[in-house]
Amino acid sequence: MSDSFSRREALKGLVWLIGAAGTLQATPDPQGIGVTPMLVPLSPSDPAAIALGYREDAKTIDPKEFPTYRPGQTCSNCVQAHGEDGPWHYCRLFRGKLLAADGWCKAWAKKA
Ligand code: SF4
Repeated sequence: MSDSFSRREALKGLVWLIGAAGTLQATPDPQGIGVTPMLVPLSPSDPAAIALGYREDAKTIDPKEFPTYRPGQTCSNCVQAHGEDGPWHYCRLFRGKLLAADGWCKAWAKKA
């Protein structure tokens, strides 16, 4: 009985591994570094995010705190952003992180 259970568990593990391998192969390499990084959203409390005043929603920016901010400036139209058009972008300044398309930071520059 325990032998049967072990085979079942081994098969489940094999199926899981095959599925995981397929998922990893389907994941793009957005930063061109030859490996598939585990990308996570940039936390506004990350020290680098704090240094650049990153906000996940540009509409929440206080113009007194960030006088260079202008309405309409977001990560989605920043020259540093690249990758897919969706709710998240990749940013050349925050490698390995996902940036909110509606986000903003002090390094914003207009995409050509
Ligand atoms: Fe967003 Fe541009 Fe700042 Fe990157 S540099 S976080 S894309 S505003």
